[in-house]
Amino acid sequence: MSFIMESKLQELTDRVNAIRYRMENAAKGAGRALSEISLCAACKAQPSNIVRLSASLPVDLFGENRMQEMREHQMADAFLGKPCHFIGHLQTNKVRQVVGAVEVIQSVDRVRLVNAIQVEAARQKLVQEILIEVNLGQEDSKAGVHAQDLKPLMEAAAACDNIRILGLMAIPPITQTEDEARRYFANLRTLMEQAKTWQFGNAQLQVLSMGMTGSYEAAIKEGATIIRVGREIYGERVR
Ligand SMILES: *Cc1c(COP(=O)(O)O)cnc(C)c1O
Repeated sequence: MSFIMESKLQELTDRVNAIRYRMENAAKGAGRALSEISLCAACKAQPSNIVRLSASLPVDLFGENRMQEMREHQMADAFLGKPCHFIGHLQTNKVRQVVGAVEVIQSVDRVRLVNAIQVEAARQKLVQEILIEVNLGQEDSKAGVHAQDLKPLMEAAAACDNIRILGLMAIPPITQTEDEARRYFANLRTLMEQAKTWQFGNAQLQVLSMGMTGSYEAAIKEGATIIRVGREIYGERVR
């Protein structure tokens, strides 16, 4: 390995170890087992060689935002066999390339998308696992279904034989304090508790994907089972 890659690996190792340490403390503080929380590396804008270095570290899975990058990383075997989730905005015309290519599509937020996923998953004869993305802050600029529309969307997804809903995902508004962040994460947890009572078929609600750089400890305290961390692993994004 070149000197540059050696030092990059060392830097990534230190960063991931620090995150795992903070994850463990947050879990302990909440009386939770660390083993029920997965670290998803949000690797957008990273080249495949850097993603591959990070795959050798204790990250559990990868989160991709863009189709093109995902394909590059997959072609380069950058995940070293670890799972890949799609976490970015998914256009209906890209569904064909995502279904069956990722373990979980985390960003399902509208009925049209549900229908497209169902058609493609049926064509490929597989069951695609998904999360429903919720827009917790009612922000127009952001993706995600508003809480009041969650039930009909879940109903539509649960009616699809080739879709399995595993839980909920959210990117809450930027907040100033940890308390404020926790309130949003608590809202997502409450929504999932509510959704469990709806008892839709094809749903196994157990995953809460929430918390990023700067907010994942609060998310863990509120029950996150997947945290999605980008900048704290890879540094600030330049492109
Ligand atoms: C980029 C991204 C993250 C990670 O954000 P950081 O602030 O870099 O930790 C998490 N979730 C989604 C959907 C993202 O696009």
